[in-house]
Amino acid sequence: MRNCKYEECGNKVEGRIDRLFCSNYCKTAYHAKKNKESGKVYFKKKVDDVLRKNRKILAKYNIKSKATVRKEVLLNEGFNPRFFTHYYKTKAGDTYLFCYDQGFKEMRDNQRDKYLLVLWQPGMEKQVFG
Ligand SMILES: [Zn+2]
Repeated sequence: MRNCKYEECGNKVEGRIDRLFCSNYCKTAYHAKKNKESGKVYFKKKVDDVLRKNRKILAKYNIKSKATVRKEVLLNEGFNPRFFTHYYKTKAGDTYLFCYDQGFKEMRDNQRDKYLLVLWQPGMEKQVFG
């Protein structure tokens, strides 16, 4: 006899050979679990895609390893500032947000419509990796 396809069940399945579940309950539970898992995979992929896209856009505009660019320009390219991989705090108290090796920070005062773009430096590693 076969086992019920819903792994957490453990019952044997009786009846027709094409019957996979011991009950409707197990059939429903199996599909609910599967959907939930694929939802998680989908979410992770979506986040990965945003991060990679952000990195690509920052790299495109950060030509000389330090650059200023209008926020609007990046946003029009599809940059999403809510997504970043980590942050770095300078001694002066500024916080740079990074997408992998590409960093960005909102500029101050009357330049708040711009981002300052920087590159990740080896010297920064101690702070974030410990
Ligand atoms: Zn079952």
